[in-house]
Amino acid sequence: MKTLDQTILIVDDDKPNRKMLKELLQEQAKIIFAKNGEQAKKLARKHHPDLILMDVIMPDLSGFDVIDTLKNDAETMNISVIFITGLANDDDEARGFDLGGCDYIYKPFKSNIVIARVMMHLELIRQRKLLDEIAHIDALTGVNNRRKMDIVLAEEVDVNKQENTSLVVAIIDIDFFKQFNDNYGHGAGDVALRQVGQALCEVCQRPRDFVARYGGEEFVVILPDCDQVNAENILNNLTQAIDDKMIRHEFSSISKLLTISIGAIVVKSSVSSSVANIMKQADSLLYQAKNNGRDQWSIANLI
Ligand code: GH3
Ligand code: MG
Ligand code: MG
Repeated sequence: MKTLDQTILIVDDDKPNRKMLKELLQEQAKIIFAKNGEQAKKLARKHHPDLILMDVIMPDLSGFDVIDTLKNDAETMNISVIFITGLANDDDEARGFDLGGCDYIYKPFKSNIVIARVMMHLELIRQRKLLDEIAHIDALTGVNNRRKMDIVLAEEVDVNKQENTSLVVAIIDIDFFKQFNDNYGHGAGDVALRQVGQALCEVCQRPRDFVARYGGEEFVVILPDCDQVNAENILNNLTQAIDDKMIRHEFSSISKLLTISIGAIVVKSSVSSSVANIMKQADSLLYQAKNNGRDQWSIANLI
């Protein structure tokens, strides 16, 4: 049996319509229902369906009212909406597209046309998601890339301010990596970068913990809702996780194994913080860890 990895929310006040649409589409996607506009808004926020098939004329809120709310909410604005309605005229169809609908089907509908259009939109949505993932992943290591890091860090700094928590941002740099590359070759260097990325991900396991390759042989870890004591534990675990990979580095001046240095900054919500300032201070702490002999971390509060 085909696994259904996409979800369609069918919004219609008329029960026979909902049933008919479900029967048409249940082989293409998981189906959930709303029988009015309020319920549609709630379910869209709760389930983040891939696609909404939206009736327009309903007793309380119209489908146009609902899409207006969805498109003005960051959580639901990217959900594709197809109108399926008895308002079969050019003006309403144009309005549907103006409000952000991706398609408009007249009732009474022809089954094969509904199926064809829904399948086409599901495929577009699948490709858009894939493209979005690829655009935010570092091709060499498989962890998040710099572009994604910029987005996530800005978001987490905002959340940190609102929720009165503290946030830790750490820059991780491999020690004597130039010597590693020069002696073992670039291919072996690439393998080591992948192992380091994997080790960092193994440690950063809470749902909002975030690992990215920042560039070259540098990584960034973002730990939301984390104080200094917790952060120190995690930093120890990060250095330990790299040790556990036992990557030989006979050309390092400080160890027989590959090691990392870390600069970590604790961002309290009371301190006014810009992303640029956070990265600058984390970088100075990394420099300090390097100067103090490498294979270690430095941590401080953002000032
Ligand atoms: P330090 O301990 O001070 O950090 O010394 P280092 O040698 O690690 O630092 P440096 O900045 O001098 O060298 C970084 C090296 O990282 C240079 C480059 O050969 C290597 N590097 C950067 N990106 C890649 C990559 O994508 N693949 C590989 N294999 N090596 C890379
Ligand atoms: Mg470096
Ligand atoms: Mg380095």
